[in-house]
Amino acid sequence: DKIFSGFSKTRDNLAVIDELLLYWNLSETDRVLDELEEVLLCSDFGPKITIKIVDSLRDDILSGKLKSGSEIKDALKKCVLDLVKSKSKKTELQLGFRKPAVIMIVGVNGGGKTTSLGKLAYRLKNEGVKILMAAGDTFRAAASDQLEIWAERTGSQIVVAEGEKKVKASSVLSQAVKRGKEEGFDVVLCDTSGRLHTNYSLMEELIACKKAVGKVVSGAPNEILLVLDGTTGLNMLPQAREFNEVVGITGLILTKLDGSARGGCVVSVVDELGIPVKFVGVGEGVEDLQPFDADAFVDAIFS
Ligand code: GDP
Repeated sequence: DKIFSGFSKTRDNLAVIDELLLYWNLSETDRVLDELEEVLLCSDFGPKITIKIVDSLRDDILSGKLKSGSEIKDALKKCVLDLVKSKSKKTELQLGFRKPAVIMIVGVNGGGKTTSLGKLAYRLKNEGVKILMAAGDTFRAAASDQLEIWAERTGSQIVVAEGEKKVKASSVLSQAVKRGKEEGFDVVLCDTSGRLHTNYSLMEELIACKKAVGKVVSGAPNEILLVLDGTTGLNMLPQAREFNEVVGITGLILTKLDGSARGGCVVSVVDELGIPVKFVGVGEGVEDLQPFDADAFVDAIFS
C-alpha cells in the first residue's frame, strides 16, 4: 500500500513511543509524557494538538483508566483517530443536483494542483461521470499545456483560453461551465493559478472565479478543494488558513504522501480548519489519488 510506505519518516519518529511505553510505570508518568510530547512535536503534530493529546493521556493515566504501556499506546492512536474523524466528516464529494457540478481546485504552485485534477478526472470518469476540464491557470502558459496532457491521458474534454492575449481566469471558467451546461457534462473540473509573491492578488482572482461560475449555475462551485503538499509539514497551516478565510474551502487534497510526508501535520491542519480531507495523492500516475481513510492513515503513522 502506497500510503503505508509514504509515512516512513513519521513512523520512524513515532516508533520511539513503543520503546518509551515498554518501560512505562506509574512513577515515571511525567518523564514518559514529556518525552512523548517531544516526539509528537518532532512529528509535526504542532503544539496545540500535542498538548491536547498529552493532557488527555495524563488524565486517563492518573484516573487509573490506562494501566499499561500498551493501553496508553492504544489510547494515543484512538485520540489521534478521533481528532481526525471528528473534524473530517463528509469525505465524499458533495456535488449537488444541478448539472454541471463545478469543482475548483486551488492551492499554491508546485503543490500538485494540476496533477490532482488529472487524477480526479480519471477517478470520476471511471465512475461514469462526464468530465469537462477548464484551464483556469491563465498566468502560466505551461499550466494549460500540462492540463491538456492530462485531458488526453484521461480522455477528457477541455476548455482553454483562446489567442495570444491574456484572458481572465474567471472568463475561462465561466465559458467552460456554460459549455458544460449546454453539452450535458456532469462535472466541470476547474484548474486555477497558484502564484504568490506578485503584485497581483491571487485571492481576488479566485473570488472572481467563484462568482463567475456561480452566475452560470446557481450553487456553483459545489466544491473548492485546496491542494496541500504533504511534505511541507506545519508550514502548510498559514497558507491553508488564508485560502479558507478568503475563498472558503470545502475539502482538502493532501499530495505527495508517497514521499517523505509529515504525518502529524495532517492532524493539525484538519483540527485547525475543521475541513475534511477528501483525497490523498500517493504518486504521479493517473491512479495515484485515493479517498482519505482516517483509519488507514492512523495505522500508517503508528506502525
Ligand atoms: P501545481 O503547480 O500545483 O499544478 O503542481 P503540479 O500538479 O504541477 O505538481 C508539481 C509536481 O509534484 C509534479 O512534478 C507532480 O508530478 C508532483 N506530484 C503531484 N502530486 C504528487 C503526489 O501525490 N506524489 C508525488 N510523488 N508527486 C506528486
